[in-house]
Amino acid sequence: MLSKDARAEPTDERLAPLKRKRDPAALLINEVFTSIQGESSFAGLPCTFVRTTGCHLRCAYCDTAHAFHEGTERTIGSLLDEVSARGLPLVEVTGGEPLLQPSVHALLRGLCDAGRTVLLETSGAVSTAGVDERVHVILDVKTPGSGEAARNHHDNLARLVPGRDEVKLVLCDEVDYRFARALIDARRVPPGVAVLLSAAQPLLSPAMLAEWMVRDRVDARFQLQLHKVLWGERRGV
Ligand code: SF4
Repeated sequence: MLSKDARAEPTDERLAPLKRKRDPAALLINEVFTSIQGESSFAGLPCTFVRTTGCHLRCAYCDTAHAFHEGTERTIGSLLDEVSARGLPLVEVTGGEPLLQPSVHALLRGLCDAGRTVLLETSGAVSTAGVDERVHVILDVKTPGSGEAARNHHDNLARLVPGRDEVKLVLCDEVDYRFARALIDARRVPPGVAVLLSAAQPLLSPAMLAEWMVRDRVDARFQLQLHKVLWGERRGV
């Protein structure tokens, strides 16, 4: 859970690390690591993660506050080389919020050109227009419990491609569950785009969410945050 201080940080301070970047073509990167993909339909597969620095949101349950300010400026070439050296076909670009840095598009293109399966996890609070069409967008739609639902760019839902992209909702309570159901029932997610629901622990028990989904025959997939089951809140795994 985020501290009160982190949530109260003014927007210009949240974006300050990105303004300090010297080379606009480079990326401010928090960490690159290899682990098991913990979420999405790719869960369970070994995956290299590239985590960008900086996020303009402050979700109540955020577990990556270390990516808000810490980072090193890296060229796209050095990142492509590092991902290649890690030797996995699956790579996820995540954050922070990757789309806050326009140079991320060059990284995404480069990873696709290298023949990798590329996932982009984005908050839904920045437009996904212009993302390479080979990238699997995982749109993390913000719920009321996150405190950031007003920041959702609803146009992003219409841009999702069936069979390629996914919607993820992290639920804090029953209000969030009803929010997710309303989204599904109103068919605001294009048919063929998977919807994944997970519980923000410890706020909501995964067993409770599973019971609600079975009870209501929800047209969505339950997901456990597998990396947390395996390693808890440890960083870089
Ligand atoms: S969008 Fe992601 S990185 Fe940003 S505050 Fe929310 S959970 Fe954290």
